[in-house]
Amino acid sequence: MTPETLEPLPLPADVTAGADGWDAWVRDRAETGLARAAEIATGLREAPPTDTLEVLRRWDAVSLQLGNVAAMGSLLGNVHPDEAVRTTAEKAEQDVSRVSTELSLDRGLYELFAGLSDDGLDDQALRLLTKVRRDFARAGVDRDDETRARITAIQERMTELDQEFSKAVRDDVRSIRVAPERLDGLPADWLDAHPAGEGGLVTVTTDYPDVVPVRQFCHDAQVRRDVLDAFLNRGYPTTEPLLKELFDLRHELATLVGFADWAAYDAEVKMIGEGPAIAEFIDKIAAAAAGPMERDLATLLERYRQDVPDAEQVTAADASYYEELVRKEQLQVDSQKVRTYFAFPKVREGLLEVTGRLFGLRYDEVTDASVWDADVTVYDVVDAASGDGLGRIYLDLHPRDGKYKHAAQFTLTDGVVGQQLPEGVLVCNFSRGLMEHDHVVTLFHEFGHLVHHVLGGHVGWARFAGVATEWDFVEAPSQMLEEWAWDPEILRSFATDAADEPITTELVEAMRASDDFGKGAQARTQMFYAAMSYWFHVERPADLTARMVELQEQYSAWPYLDGTHMFASFGHLSGYSSAYYTYAWSLVIAKDLFSAFDARDLFDTGTAGRYRDRVLAPGGSKDAADLVADFLGRPYTFDAYAAWLAR
Ligand SMILES: [Zn+2]
Repeated sequence: MTPETLEPLPLPADVTAGADGWDAWVRDRAETGLARAAEIATGLREAPPTDTLEVLRRWDAVSLQLGNVAAMGSLLGNVHPDEAVRTTAEKAEQDVSRVSTELSLDRGLYELFAGLSDDGLDDQALRLLTKVRRDFARAGVDRDDETRARITAIQERMTELDQEFSKAVRDDVRSIRVAPERLDGLPADWLDAHPAGEGGLVTVTTDYPDVVPVRQFCHDAQVRRDVLDAFLNRGYPTTEPLLKELFDLRHELATLVGFADWAAYDAEVKMIGEGPAIAEFIDKIAAAAAGPMERDLATLLERYRQDVPDAEQVTAADASYYEELVRKEQLQVDSQKVRTYFAFPKVREGLLEVTGRLFGLRYDEVTDASVWDADVTVYDVVDAASGDGLGRIYLDLHPRDGKYKHAAQFTLTDGVVGQQLPEGVLVCNFSRGLMEHDHVVTLFHEFGHLVHHVLGGHVGWARFAGVATEWDFVEAPSQMLEEWAWDPEILRSFATDAADEPITTELVEAMRASDDFGKGAQARTQMFYAAMSYWFHVERPADLTARMVELQEQYSAWPYLDGTHMFASFGHLSGYSSAYYTYAWSLVIAKDLFSAFDARDLFDTGTAGRYRDRVLAPGGSKDAADLVADFLGRPYTFDAYAAWLAR
C-alpha cells in the first residue's frame, strides 16, 4: 500500500453551520463537479489527445467527477437532517444520472474510443479501455439512428414502469380485522400498539411489523392464513400488466444490442457471465439444500402433527409459526437474555477492536471533524504497521426523522492513489441501548462493505476504486465478516452484560443452532424467487401466476396458497430483474473464503492479511474470480457452502 498525503474532504463547518451552509455547499460541489466533467468530455470530443493513455486518464477523471457528485447526492439525500438539503442532494444525483446517460449515447466519444490503439497499454489501462468500450456497446451507441431512438424510448418507459410498479406495491397496504382474543400469542408490546377499534376489532395490516409477528406468534391458524393471503395478494392485479410490459421491453432492449435475452445481457457484466448459468446455479443450490430441507421439515412436521394429527405437510401459513415453536421448545434461546450482552457502545467498540486487529488497522477518532448530525462519529483509518493514513469513515448508526430506514454503506468519496482519499459512511438504525444479535450481525456485515471501500481505495483508476467488483460478488466480503459476529471467542471479547460478565459459549452455540434450523427451506425459498426472476425474463410467460405456481412446487418447501399472487408484489423483479440469484451466489463464495480461516482462531492475522491484500485491496482492478483464486490458491467451489447448509 502506498503512503497517502491526501487530505479528507472538508465538509461545511459543522452542524451549527445550519441548513443554508450545507445547501450552498451541496449546490456548489454539484455544479463544480458537473461543470468539470462536461469540460473534460467536451475537450475529449473536440480535441482528443492522440495518446490512448491520456484519453483514458481524462475519461477516468470524468468518472471521478461524476462519481463524487453522485456519491454526495446519494449520501446527503438519505442522511441530512434538513429536508431542503436532502432535496438539493437528490437533484444533484438525478443530474449525474442524466449526464451519464447522455455520455453513454454520445456518438463522438464512442468513435473516439473505438478508434484508439491498444498498443503498449499495461494490463490496468487495457482493462479500463475494454470496459469503456463494452459500456458503449451495451448502451447501443453503435446502432443506427432509428434503433438508438427506440432504445432511448425503451429506457424512458422502463424507468416509468419501474416507478409505477414500486409505487403500486408500496401503496397497496391491505388489512384484515380480527377480534382481539384471536390474537393470543403475540408479544405484549405488539398488542398494546394494536388496540381494538371500530366494532371491537383490531386492524392487522400487510406491513412487515404486523405480518412478521402475526405469522410467527399468533396461535389462531385462520388469522395466520388470512394475513398471509392478504400479504401475498398485494399489488394484484394492478402490477401484472406493468411487469409483463417491463419484461417485454427488457427483452427488446437486450436483443437490440445483440443479446439472446435480458438475462444474457444482464449476466454479461456479472461473475456468472452467461444467462443459462443462472438456471444451472439455481438447480445446484436447490440440490444442495434438498437434504438439509428434508431433515428440518421432518422435525417441523413432527411438531405440527401434535396440533394437526393427520397433516401430510406444513402449510405456507403455518411455516413461520411452527419454525418458531421448534426453536423455542427444542433449541431454547431466550432472546431477551441475549440482548443484555449487546449494549450499543460496547458493540461499537468491539467491532472496531475486532476488525482493527483482524485487518491490521487503527481507527483514530477525529473529534473535531464536521458532521451532518451530532450522532455521527468520525475515524481516520490508519495502517497499524506503517502508520499510513488509508481513509476516513463516518458512523451514523441511530434513527432520526427523514433518515434512510435500512442499513447500508454509502460512499462519500472514492479513493484513487495520488488523487483522492477513500471516505465512506455506515448508515444504520440501531438502538442506542441494547441491540438484538441480528443487528450486531448486520453491523459487521455493513462494516465489511466499508472496509472494502477504504482498503480498495488505493488503486490507479477511479473506475476500479473500492467496491467496484462484479455485482454478484459485492456481498461476499460482508457475508464473510458476519462469521466474526457468531464466534464465541470473538463475542466474549466485547459482549458483556451489565455486570461485565461475558456471554457464555453455550449460549452462543445455542444461538447458532437456532439460526441453523430452517436454513435448507430458506435456501429453497430463495431459489424459488431466483427462478421466478430468471424464467419470467427468459420465457415471458402469458400467465405469470401459473408459471409461479409451477416454480413454487419445484423449489419451495411450502405449498402454494390458493388464490394468491406473490409475484405481483415481488419488488426485486424491478431492481434485481433476472439476477435475484446474486445473494446466494456471493454466499457460496463467502463460505468458501471463510474456509481458508482457522475456525478455532479467527484472529489469525496471517490469513486475514492475505485476504486483505488479495481480495479487498485490489478493488475492481481484477475479476472477482481471480481475486478469490489469488487468495484461496484455487478456484472457488461449492463444498464449503454445502457443508454449512448441512450443518
Ligand atoms: Zn450487503
